[in-house]
Amino acid sequence: MKPVVLIVIDGLTPSMFEAAETPALRLLAERGEYTRAASVFPSLTPVCLTSIATGAYPDVHWIPHLVWWHRDEERLVEYGSSFGAMRAAGLARGLRDTIVDLNARHLSRDAETIYEALEATGLTTAAINITCYRGTHRHLPTIPGAPAVFGPKRFFFYSLYESDATGAPLAFLNRGLGSIDAYAATVGRWLVTRDGFDLLVHYLPDYDYASHAQGPDAAHEALRRSDDAITALFDAAGGPDEFLDRYAVVVCSDHGQSKISNVAKLEAGDDLVTASNRAAMVYTADPRRVATLLDREPSAGTVVFLEDDVLVARRDGDEDLALLDAVPDGRTRAERALRNPNAGEVLVSATPGFEFVDLAGRHHLGGGSHGSLEAADSEVPMLTVGLGAPPASITGIKPLVTRHFRSAGARAA
Ligand SMILES: [Zn+2]
Repeated sequence: MKPVVLIVIDGLTPSMFEAAETPALRLLAERGEYTRAASVFPSLTPVCLTSIATGAYPDVHWIPHLVWWHRDEERLVEYGSSFGAMRAAGLARGLRDTIVDLNARHLSRDAETIYEALEATGLTTAAINITCYRGTHRHLPTIPGAPAVFGPKRFFFYSLYESDATGAPLAFLNRGLGSIDAYAATVGRWLVTRDGFDLLVHYLPDYDYASHAQGPDAAHEALRRSDDAITALFDAAGGPDEFLDRYAVVVCSDHGQSKISNVAKLEAGDDLVTASNRAAMVYTADPRRVATLLDREPSAGTVVFLEDDVLVARRDGDEDLALLDAVPDGRTRAERALRNPNAGEVLVSATPGFEFVDLAGRHHLGGGSHGSLEAADSEVPMLTVGLGAPPASITGIKPLVTRHFRSAGARAA
């Protein structure tokens, strides 16, 4: 049974992947099967990575957005829309929410992570830098004062948690120059050299960071560095052929990106709005009134809510569920986002070109952003090598990988 390496390049669009001339991605594409797959809604990293790790939509895993209202604790949760937004929500609280409580408290107990699922069958899982990491092994922090967390057996998180000493450089010293992907490359090389896992989740965030600044399909230098991190895995195995002899592979991203030419501060009367990037939520007792109010708001594209427990979609005064058929997996993604108990009662997908400012007024005008139901934000590249047909949704990765190990187990028995 081949171990599996799952590589997630944050924010990589299908068009950028398909045109990529970087050597590691080209080689994998030539050996594998490829499709464009759908993300979830909102197409924002904490939501998407949790869907990748749990195989579930937000109605099951309960992570609703980058920023949301915690009804029980009556406070905002902010996972890092920007440094300013995190400071506005309370920096220490924000760091704890993002690093610890997303997994320890916000992620539903009814969702099962891929690490929990595979380790329950005796397999070893490893994760590098992915923000959804919940597992059964307790890990102490590398700096005093931070809490212990529960993750997969082999767990590496931005130099803050390290299950093994790998000699990797500090992850956060020079973000703009790709220090996080360089850290991931060193840890990945260490793990492959020791063949120390059945599943390795190798998360590369630096591409998204560059693409927010430069705009979609422009961050070629950042993509080259992500490609170098994959080449480091090949080298650790003795070359690409040896690597693919040993491992099955998935390469994907968590969401796309689109070009930002307008920004807006979304408001909905007296009701609380949580907005970031290209998605917003409104916490309200009267969803229809809010949706109708937003008919006149240029930044509000498709607006969805539940009425008598039935999905409703509006756009500029038109009310028709067929609006959702124009976007990838639209009806399912909208409904399963709304049925998340932590979501607002009204969800707003931004008009193409628009971005909503976050708590600190930050935005990516002139660059790239994501979060909406629109195809540019919601389509991801999905490549599999040695695992059969690639899934049509990021929620299909966990079932694909668990099936791979089940069928291998059945053959061995
Ligand atoms: Zn992003």
